[in-house]
Amino acid sequence: MSSRRSKAVAFAACAVLWVYAAEDYTTFVNPLMGTMSSYELSAGNTYPAIARPWGMNFWTPQTGVMGDGWQYTYDAHCIRGFKQTHQPSPWINDYGQFSLMPVTKNPVFEESERASWFSHKAEQATPYYYSVYLADHDVLAEMTPTERAAAFRFTFPEGESYVVIDAFDCGSEVNISADGRKVSGRTTRNSGGVPANFANYFVVEFDKPVSYVATFGKAVKGDSLILKAGSEEFSGFHAGAVIGFNTERREQVMVRVASSFISAEQAELNLKELDGRDFESLVSEGKEVWNNVLGRLAVNDTEADNLDRKRTFYSCLYRSTLFPRKFYEINSEGQPVHYSPYSGEVLPGYMYTDTGFWDTFRCLFPLLNLVYPSVSHEMQEGFLNAWRESGFFPEWCSPGHRGCMVGNNSASVMADAWLKGICVSDPEALWRGVISGANSVHPTVSSTGRLGWEEYNKLGYVPCDIGINESAARTLEYAYDDWCIYRLGKALGRPERELAQYKRNALNYKNLYSHEFQLMRGRRADGSFADPFSPLKWGDVFTEGNAWHYTWSVFHDPAGLISLMGGNDNFVAQLDSMFTIPPLFDDSYYGFPIHEIREMTVMNMGNYAHGNQPVQHAIYLYDWALQPWKGQFWLRRTMDSLYSPVPDGYCGDEDNGQTSAWYVFSALGFYPVAPGSNQYAIGSPLFRNVSIRLENGNIVNISAPANSETTPYVDKLTLDGAVIDRNYLAHDELIGGCDIDFTMSAVPNTVRGTSSTSAPYSFSNQK
Ligand code: CA
Repeated sequence: MSSRRSKAVAFAACAVLWVYAAEDYTTFVNPLMGTMSSYELSAGNTYPAIARPWGMNFWTPQTGVMGDGWQYTYDAHCIRGFKQTHQPSPWINDYGQFSLMPVTKNPVFEESERASWFSHKAEQATPYYYSVYLADHDVLAEMTPTERAAAFRFTFPEGESYVVIDAFDCGSEVNISADGRKVSGRTTRNSGGVPANFANYFVVEFDKPVSYVATFGKAVKGDSLILKAGSEEFSGFHAGAVIGFNTERREQVMVRVASSFISAEQAELNLKELDGRDFESLVSEGKEVWNNVLGRLAVNDTEADNLDRKRTFYSCLYRSTLFPRKFYEINSEGQPVHYSPYSGEVLPGYMYTDTGFWDTFRCLFPLLNLVYPSVSHEMQEGFLNAWRESGFFPEWCSPGHRGCMVGNNSASVMADAWLKGICVSDPEALWRGVISGANSVHPTVSSTGRLGWEEYNKLGYVPCDIGINESAARTLEYAYDDWCIYRLGKALGRPERELAQYKRNALNYKNLYSHEFQLMRGRRADGSFADPFSPLKWGDVFTEGNAWHYTWSVFHDPAGLISLMGGNDNFVAQLDSMFTIPPLFDDSYYGFPIHEIREMTVMNMGNYAHGNQPVQHAIYLYDWALQPWKGQFWLRRTMDSLYSPVPDGYCGDEDNGQTSAWYVFSALGFYPVAPGSNQYAIGSPLFRNVSIRLENGNIVNISAPANSETTPYVDKLTLDGAVIDRNYLAHDELIGGCDIDFTMSAVPNTVRGTSSTSAPYSFSNQK
């Protein structure tokens, strides 16, 4: 009786959990979305990351050759192995990678010889489970991961069967146990951003007696890869092992794998993540873990015609909950501990990595802060550890600091979290870290900290003629970052004298505005604008974009930009032009059309380049100019034409959750244009009903009854039953739980959201 009663109580308390666990959201995720990409044209540049959310290790079938950033491409015919990967992007490439591959008949080990034909028709990819039939070996390969370990199940034919363990080149090692059932080893392969003692230690265990062991490898670069049957250890430039069995027809061999960036002993400890569960229970556990993450945003639409949108939504949400990944492990005392990719030491506490803030400050981190604040809190503590261990917050980390992109957008990432109540344990260290990053540059990784900070602080911009590339992009982002620092400092109660520099410099975007062209331009140290000016020129003073894209990079003060442009009408005309001028481009800076340029030209949206990050917030600026219906039109067009849940489903690099999180927010009907403002600009919701199930237990219920493909326009909006005429929602309103009701329409309502108080936050308008 008492147990029945406690069950009933538990059921009542967990009613909300129960409701959303009832639907299997993972069935809507296509991990292959974005994989039909190449160097020339990115449709996402993703790979199927078979993983736990934010897991330390991802696993992927590998079609590309060892070292190729395009490690899984949809149009490939052969798989070379199943690879543990930590790659955030093909442009940054991988580190600590190794692979397993089942083979039959002969112990073939070289990656091209062991490769097998496969078909997408005999492939199943979910976030937590992947299987494929390897035709050349007549093997069904299945895998399911935990955060730091994975289980494989290979179904072999009758005869001689093998598993190849390839620790990859550039320095690796394998050791086979006396009975052959355990292989330990390490790989040191990386693409930079690691200390000299970097290694990934792995352990592989088989559940079946072994009949054959061999190592293969080359001692030094340039040797040929040689197999040594009976050999139990090898270390050198490239090491691997082959373990063989006599198998019956359809015999299943289970392989358990784990790894550690700390030590071989910690790898054994991480293997315990698999303890007590067979393959099937690991699969169901993975599915449950993913459903608990995906189900925080419950799309309740059941209409068949919205199935593709639902698939796109959850595929994007899955991509938004992978990076930055955990780079910490749990020691024998149950405490978080990490190998520092900055100092090479093993230290207590959290660490997260594999993200570029230039991309992800925009809306990926705001999504985490809204929906997954406890995870975000761990990330914040991890970034603070990065500062303690290297003297800088990351800007692009994989796993340590990498030289890539521009800006000092760690200020945005740290400030947005704090302002939303996600508070690190040491606010003094947070403040010191942020202001030191704004007034220095990393001695060897110039994209960390602020390159050109002295000139910027002196002149109010980074000049374009002092040998610093992408100077206008840097200036615009530094100005926004200064506003973030100012907002953070105020929230931390720092004295005004400390804040004055950041308050003043937050308006530095004005220094690059050209009244002649009504666009941002590069400026020389003597104060003159750079000549000749080509509004269509990509790169040079901008980063992977042109003046049409970067002029809108005034996230924190659109009203100030509108004022520079001479008012709302001129501003709207200029914003309209971005979509109506043809996709002409000037690629003279690069010497060829970089893939981001090509992606802009083929989308039939003029010079709007949604495939890259600088412009992704721009459509929402119509909210500030009080013509929100224009934004609603372009938002629907972008969501419906540039995203689909298929292998070529993105319109450019997905970039570690940013381009996906844009869709997630936009489909909900709002977007954080200025992280740090605690506001969300209103757009055009995609579904009829979505529930945001917040960690604090509150629910945001977003309704748009009768919403359809043909109703992009907001006719009326109520918040908890009261009509609102503004073009924004406040973070506190969402966090408190609320009912947001949209009345959608096929025709624009040109009255709603047009009063002077309708516009969202701008720094210029604040006292
Ligand atoms: Ca990009």
